[in-house]
Amino acid sequence: MAVTRQDEIRQFINNIADQYGHESFSLLSLLLETQEKYGYVSEQAMQYLADALDIPPAKVYGVATFYHFINLTPQGKFIIRLSRDISSIMKGAGEIASQLERQLGIQFGESTADGLFSLYWTGCIGMDDLAPAMLINQAVFTNLSPEQIPLILEQCRELKDSPQTLVSQMGKTMTTKLTYASHHADDGLKAALTMTPEAVIDEIAASGLCGRGGAGFPTGKKWRLAAGVQSAVHYMICNADEGEPGTFKDRVVLTEFAERVFEGMTVAAYAIGAREGIFYLRAEYTYLLAHLNAILKNRREAGLLGQDILGKAGFDFDIRIQLGAGAYICGEETALIESLEGNRGEPRDRPPYPVEVGLHGYPTVVNNVETLATVSVILARGASWFSAIGTTRSKGFKLFSVSGDCRQPGLYELPWGSSILELLKLVGGEGAKAVQVGGYSGTLIPSSAFNRRLAYEDIGAGSTVIIYGADRDMLEIVQNYLEFFVNESCGQCTPCRDGNVVLLKGIKALREGRSSVHQLENLLNLAKSICLTSKCGLGQSSPKALLTISQYFHDELTRHLIPVQTLNQPVSGHLSERSR
Ligand code: SF4
Repeated sequence: MAVTRQDEIRQFINNIADQYGHESFSLLSLLLETQEKYGYVSEQAMQYLADALDIPPAKVYGVATFYHFINLTPQGKFIIRLSRDISSIMKGAGEIASQLERQLGIQFGESTADGLFSLYWTGCIGMDDLAPAMLINQAVFTNLSPEQIPLILEQCRELKDSPQTLVSQMGKTMTTKLTYASHHADDGLKAALTMTPEAVIDEIAASGLCGRGGAGFPTGKKWRLAAGVQSAVHYMICNADEGEPGTFKDRVVLTEFAERVFEGMTVAAYAIGAREGIFYLRAEYTYLLAHLNAILKNRREAGLLGQDILGKAGFDFDIRIQLGAGAYICGEETALIESLEGNRGEPRDRPPYPVEVGLHGYPTVVNNVETLATVSVILARGASWFSAIGTTRSKGFKLFSVSGDCRQPGLYELPWGSSILELLKLVGGEGAKAVQVGGYSGTLIPSSAFNRRLAYEDIGAGSTVIIYGADRDMLEIVQNYLEFFVNESCGQCTPCRDGNVVLLKGIKALREGRSSVHQLENLLNLAKSICLTSKCGLGQSSPKALLTISQYFHDELTRHLIPVQTLNQPVSGHLSERSR
């Protein structure tokens, strides 16, 4: 009997499910592999996946629809994703978008009739120092100009039979001198293996290192909590899912210093007693996958991973890379763990915390890329060297991703405690009217507060700096933020899921001159409620920029309001239409 295409798809899915032991937590990997083979995940394929993993088809559908990079309908051979975060827009992403539409003869969200191209907007792709930027499949194109677009599309057409061979065209990142560059990889690991696990934790705690992913939790304390849980299994996870708009520091660290990150994971594993490490890499950085796997292979061959690492009897540890599939919320550690378990990346209720009940119910440490690279330096150079840098509560050096209205966007290493003003002088951003620190979910700082310091005791742990020049429209900025949050809300709780949609509509109405003072007041009250009642950091921070603008740039909020005398006039048909 002839083998049908459906038989072939079922066989393919069964084969890959065999490799993963038909474990339901492998669902995301299976979805990605199915998509890579067939270009999208059809309804029939979802049914086969459900059969292969013995889970309900509704679960497969729920997971597949959660992630932006999983396609449920046929796509072009080249999927173009143009970043529309604010730094990209400020650098001309709008003109790039118009040129793409003109050249392809389609609009965003559509595919060309010849099946070659699909065109989408996307959030931050970690390239804001090189904006405007876009992904075509896994390849990255930066510093785009409208003139380049026809050439890039032509290159794609020439590669139409082998689209996976398309090569990235990336500009050079500007960086200051980085401490990682003067530190010899694996000195930290060698030092750690001369110590007991408890002493390693003590050293990291004494250094004062706090998590560099945004939350700023003390790293030594996190390790101690996980190590203290009696369990046959502990997990060490590296969170390489930096999705905060404006952030690209982990990308640079992974490109140039990935050994330090894997070294840091190995030190952490030794400290907490983990045998398995998982490196969760965001889908936007898939182009780094081969580079990272090659480094892992070298480390295994050099005895830096595997059994009896560096001759330390009984210390066995290895790392595997798990690709994400395009979901900002998976940067939140419990959402990331849900994703690793093959679920929608929805944040968990806490407590219990992952250090007690994490991946598959076992104690788990999740550390960010920069945190782990810094662990390697601390172990090599000593806690006292590290803690002598910075301020009383913010120890050590820190990487800052700087983009927006400045002459030298790039990656800057600074000691904690530098002021915004000092940073602006360094990057050529003098004259700015505001600076966003910590990405969209961070803090908007007006120029009157540029003496504030980049430190836990002041602005907080944020390391993403987006600079807004004197002529920027703050309402356009806040609309861009809200569009992002509406798109990325996981939908679990009402204030965030529905409230941000209402806020976004309200801001659009305001910009179009369709709002009254009363409606603006309602909008600001709603913003406060969303901050107070949302379940996780995404919803709690999503309206923060609007509230800051209301405080410091109030005239920009009120200048489009419907004049009071208009409101007091007899209601015309047009106005009553708008007021309903
Ligand atoms: Fe999901 Fe938003 Fe609620 Fe967080 S605040 S759990 S992202 S709906």
